[in-house]
Amino acid sequence: MKVLYPFNRIWAKLSLLLVLITFLPLSILGYMAITIQQTQVTNQVRGMNYGFSRLIAFQIYSIMRNARGVFDTMAYSRDIASVDQARIEPILGNFLQNNPIFEGVSVYGQNKRLVAQAGRQLPLEDTTTLFTTAALDRYGGTLIAKADDAQFKLVLYDDRGLIKGAMIAVLNLKLLARTLNEILSLLTQAYANLHIYVLDSDYHVIAASQDAPFVEGNLFTTWSDDPQVAHRFEMSLKDLPGYSYETPPWRIVNIAKPGAVVTLVKIQEKVVQIGMLTGLVALLFGVFFGRTFITRPIGRLVNAANHIAQGDLSRPVPFVGQDEVGELADAFEKMRANLKRMQADLKEKYDEVQTLYGVAKDISLTLNFNDLLDVILDRAMKIVMAERGSIMLLDDDTQELKIEVARGVSSEVVSGTRVKLGEAVSGHVLQSGRPMLIADTLKSPNFSKLKEGKIAAGTMLSVPLIAKDKRLGVLNVSKATPYTLDERDQELFMGLANQAAVAIENARLYTLAITDELTKIYIRRFFYQRLSEELRRARRYKGSCTVIILDIDHFKKFNDTYGHPQGDQVLIHVARTLKSCMRKVDIVARLGGEEFAVVCPEQNVEAALVPAERIRRTIEGAMLDLSGVKVNVTVSIGLADFPNHAQNQADVIDRADQALYHAKHTGRNRVCSYDQVLAAAAAPPKAEDPEQTN
Ligand code: GH3
Ligand code: MG
Ligand code: MG
Repeated sequence: MKVLYPFNRIWAKLSLLLVLITFLPLSILGYMAITIQQTQVTNQVRGMNYGFSRLIAFQIYSIMRNARGVFDTMAYSRDIASVDQARIEPILGNFLQNNPIFEGVSVYGQNKRLVAQAGRQLPLEDTTTLFTTAALDRYGGTLIAKADDAQFKLVLYDDRGLIKGAMIAVLNLKLLARTLNEILSLLTQAYANLHIYVLDSDYHVIAASQDAPFVEGNLFTTWSDDPQVAHRFEMSLKDLPGYSYETPPWRIVNIAKPGAVVTLVKIQEKVVQIGMLTGLVALLFGVFFGRTFITRPIGRLVNAANHIAQGDLSRPVPFVGQDEVGELADAFEKMRANLKRMQADLKEKYDEVQTLYGVAKDISLTLNFNDLLDVILDRAMKIVMAERGSIMLLDDDTQELKIEVARGVSSEVVSGTRVKLGEAVSGHVLQSGRPMLIADTLKSPNFSKLKEGKIAAGTMLSVPLIAKDKRLGVLNVSKATPYTLDERDQELFMGLANQAAVAIENARLYTLAITDELTKIYIRRFFYQRLSEELRRARRYKGSCTVIILDIDHFKKFNDTYGHPQGDQVLIHVARTLKSCMRKVDIVARLGGEEFAVVCPEQNVEAALVPAERIRRTIEGAMLDLSGVKVNVTVSIGLADFPNHAQNQADVIDRADQALYHAKHTGRNRVCSYDQVLAAAAAPPKAEDPEQTN
């Protein structure tokens, strides 16, 4: 079962890859661009802030330093040092009028009591540490610098350096703020995206740039996480190197509005948009490309491969391109074609083997030599659907080929054909031991030569029959249409011819083994074998079987008179007569000497008496011409059958023998059945054998 998880399709993988290889570098580049830009803008803003802060700090410092200078100059005057109320008071009034940076000024005596004062006075609730704080203030340590209060203090000494009192001046912070506001307003014009604040140590606004959300006196509460704040930059005046002395612990805060980084934000948005678009395009392209150029060809290839896997080799693998997939498809196609060819070859070979097997089976079932030749020729012709065919066997004596069996050939040709080794097609084929295929008999120059003018149109195949190096003959088939036999048929025929030759040779040897050399009929051993078979059959099917035994009369005398060779001629003649008078199914054998026997299957004595009598008469009537001497012989015949006269083989032969003996003793040249033996035994003998008396 196929599990369809999202990325088990190539086009999906490809899309992902494309998205990654386009989207990823773009994101990295975009990120880097933004970061660099961000850093640049931040640095720019920070630098600007720093510059502005330094500028403002320097302004505050200048104002403070001037004020301090004025304050100190006055504190060191003789009139102030006198700590005389009358002398000091007008001076203080004058001082405030000339120096509007101060809001009020007071002088305290040695006893820490107020001696004189002008302008706004800040009540000193605790004067115990007056001289200490005043002394420290000289070094800028204790300047109170709230939004509503900032003071300068100074200890007053006499000529001998003893403390005579202290002077305190309150700074006019409103004036200072106004001055700073003017400066900030100028900066605002220079850089609109910035809010600038001057804060006291408690984060109260002393001065602010134009349109800033917090105004003078407000508590400043905007921090970095405010969405309206792109950058927040803060520094203390005390942090400025060299300015700590006589500088209040004020802070300068710069707020960069989002507008300050508006391009940056725009770039950021653009990068994201382009990134998304590129990703989308890559995805669409990946899907399109993957499906069109990869998935579809592979799909077609897979489809074709599936057909092959299911054993369907008839569909060619389609052309899917020239890339690796295409090469794979090509290889598949080659494989398919090869498989198909191999399959066809195998099928052909299988059919061939089947055919040969069928032939072998038929041949093995055939014992009779002539039947065997018929079977071989019929099977061979059927395989190639030949119209004509023949089996020619080599006569060992004449070394000529004779047609043994034939189909579609006239009987004159069959009986008249004699082919010498090396002559015509068959003679050539047998001599060379090689088959000959003539695709078109009319066009083959060799064939017309071989055939010597007697050419039938068509195609012809001739294969030698050779068993164990023994040349037996030739198997020929032909068809009326040219080019209807080919090398394949030839190959198949060679296989068939090999089997046939062995079968023919075996049949020949077997026939030889069971045939009497002189008379060419069966020998005694084969007779007994067949008789036992026929008796078994008769017993099983409740039939009958007759044995005929024949002996030539006075043959000894014949031999003595005419000679042994003449006797042999008689034996041959008797055997021929026997064969011609009996049925095909009867088994005619020579038992030995001049004694013959016949097995007549499915016949009782009564039926067999007819051919027996015919034999006797034929032999009696035949005049033999033995080298000019005309002679004739007679035979005596005895018959007995199963089951009337005997129940087993030995008995049936014995009874037939007794019948023959009876025939001999009752005058020879006669046919007797065992019934007559029995009848004679019942009745007393009448007359002597006339010939015995000779
Ligand atoms: P009968 O009428 O009683 O049978 O007289 P017969 O002379 O034929 O007697 P018998 O059957 O005993 O004779 C057998 C003779 O057959 C002996 C032999 O000369 C002859 N004979 C046996 N075998 C052959 C053979 O192969 N060739 C020839 N020419 N003669 C043979
Ligand atoms: Mg005999
Ligand atoms: Mg005899």
